Amino acid sequence: TAADFPVELSPGTWDVLRGDFPLLIDGKFVSSASGAAGVTHDPATGAALADFALGDAVDVDLAVRAAHKAFGGPWSKLSHFERARLLRKLADLFEANTQVLAELEVIDNGMPMWLAGLTARNNAELFHYYAGWAERIEGTTTTPPAHVLAAGEALTYTLREPVGVVGQIVPWNVPLSMACLKLAPALAAGCTVVLKPAEETPLSAVVLGRLIMEAGFPEGVVNIVNGDGATAGAALVKHPLVSKISFTGSTEVGKLIVRECADDLKKVSLELGGKSPVIVFPDADMAKAVPGVAMATFFLQGQNCMAGTRIFVHADIYDELLEGMAAFAGSMKIGHGLHADTMIGPLISAKQKARVMSFVEEAKAGPARVVAGGKAPEGPGHFVEPTIVADTTPDMRVVREEIFGPVMAVQRFEGDDLDAIAAMANDSDFGLSGSVWTQDLSTAHKMAARVRSGHVSVNTHGAVGANIPFGGFKQSGWGREFGREGLDLYLETKAVTVAL
Ligand code: NAD
Repeated sequence: TAADFPVELSPGTWDVLRGDFPLLIDGKFVSSASGAAGVTHDPATGAALADFALGDAVDVDLAVRAAHKAFGGPWSKLSHFERARLLRKLADLFEANTQVLAELEVIDNGMPMWLAGLTARNNAELFHYYAGWAERIEGTTTTPPAHVLAAGEALTYTLREPVGVVGQIVPWNVPLSMACLKLAPALAAGCTVVLKPAEETPLSAVVLGRLIMEAGFPEGVVNIVNGDGATAGAALVKHPLVSKISFTGSTEVGKLIVRECADDLKKVSLELGGKSPVIVFPDADMAKAVPGVAMATFFLQGQNCMAGTRIFVHADIYDELLEGMAAFAGSMKIGHGLHADTMIGPLISAKQKARVMSFVEEAKAGPARVVAGGKAPEGPGHFVEPTIVADTTPDMRVVREEIFGPVMAVQRFEGDDLDAIAAMANDSDFGLSGSVWTQDLSTAHKMAARVRSGHVSVNTHGAVGANIPFGGFKQSGWGREFGREGLDLYLETKAVTVAL
């Protein structure tokens, strides 16, 4: 009811909430075969939001078969240009529904409204962007070596063909964006999809399914099965008609998926965890570095794979930066994401809050110092204060493990040996993101080259977008999403040689 929310939801959001949250299989919105349903909650209040159909292996099988039929059916007969037109129609529908989609993300995931609005608009852009790539998928021509076929007597050309049925498994941290960034390139490439959203955040994917059908995609091209990871997710990974799995989530489940996919050598792409370094040099513009570095950690409550959580600060500015960031963290408004001025929303669940607080309590025991935050506010909702742990050392758990919460670990460095600084920054199993804060052009580019991560920012952090390849070195993943490389994940290259 309206009393569950601190701010009035728009009528469109109420229409969605008062309806059903079914599965989308073969163009139809259906209950789960078993009749099972889950309940999703607002992490800011604990209030139940809606029941949703909870799929299992039976539903996944139906969805995969529908995707397989569609792959060989009308979808494969559409030209690249027709696929692009459908993607543009979907982008327009996203633009027309940004408010509803943003509100659903806020109440289901907990993210602040400003961020939900931004991601809703990014998703529309993503479909526009990959519509452009759909029109530009093309091969090359060449000739085989003369000892294979005589010169002038042969021609080789390449075809770029869709991989087939793709299983896409996404997490709860940015639910709709994760779904869109996987769907857009897969559809541009001509694949068909079974999407499994995270069980914690099932709502926006159902609206996404409605918009996909309204845009006119043929039935079975996109199937959406909400369900648990261990049942629906695992069934999708094992299904023999699935040619590729694209996964975003924990490194642990990523490794499990790779092992499962080894049985039939499915293609796999992975976006996994991170523990990204932020390196602040003594000449950094402090007015920008203070909020910029703080937000590298606290953006999305730190539930963000590219969060910059290992902060290396030169001794000359260590105290000044710490003081500035502690004041910034203390000023961040914590609350329900629907409030326009909320900067820090709740974590996704009580379990996640307990996990995050275990790192904070350990840090409080010393020898590191907690200089900001450190508490979980009383009352309903899974809130944790933005927390800064100073004087950390490389072996501490708070420095080594991905926390996925608003907890920053700060270390001091001295000197200007870039190789030594890079060695410190690269002392991690992960390599997803990172940032360098300096006004010196040489330092900036030399450090960007030395950081072993898929994405490095200078004087900002984690600025990703539809056209910027994103993915991990080391245990942060396989492959790159966004940009042209994001499309390549869904294409096979076939070479055709013709003896003339
Ligand atoms: P998770 O890996 O457990 O879940 C992610 C998705 O995988 C969900 O849809 C889930 O249902 C599914 N899944 C779980 N087990 C599965 C299995 N055996 N087979 C197939 N699918 C399965 O992640 P989580 O518990 O939601 O989040 C915990 C951690 O994941 C975080 O602490 C963080 O390290 C990481 N994470 C990373 C990102 C990222 O963008 N890289 C995003 C969210 C979470």
